[in-house]
Amino acid sequence: MDSPGAKQQSVGMANLGTTTHSYLHTELERRRASLQAAAGANVSDASLRRLISSVDEALARLSGGTFGICEVCHDSIEADRLLCNPLLRFCLDHLSSEEQRALERDLVLAAGIQRGLLPRADWSVCKWQARYHYEPAALVSGDYFDLIENEDSFFSCSATLPARESPRPC
Ligand SMILES: [Zn+2]
Repeated sequence: MDSPGAKQQSVGMANLGTTTHSYLHTELERRRASLQAAAGANVSDASLRRLISSVDEALARLSGGTFGICEVCHDSIEADRLLCNPLLRFCLDHLSSEEQRALERDLVLAAGIQRGLLPRADWSVCKWQARYHYEPAALVSGDYFDLIENEDSFFSCSATLPARESPRPC
């Protein structure tokens, strides 16, 4: 029978996959080299030393099998968040209040960008007019849709956006 720690390790690492694990390792090594180059010019910069230490800790978690495990609840940290920031140590449920506010600001900004990508509500070309209703399931979610004019014709384009993946044309 596995210990709770062993089970948590396998859950966190299983969510990453071999390709993602390799990517994250390469990304962390790249960040470390960049930080060391920057620190070389300014060895007294404490923030650079802390960042290098954070990268080293993430590399140790990666090689030790605990990467992607929340340090508070021992559940898996969301894989999409880890791909954006491999230094994360906590899942969404355990963000600080400052981190929660920053995340909320980012979501509001992303929702505005997503709405800005939609065609105009009064879109028309020649005798064609378009109407649509857009209602995301969450603050930022949903499929991609656009209308592209080409002289006297137009193209419609849409793509599904499976949960937390890249758009796929359909
Ligand atoms: Zn957690």
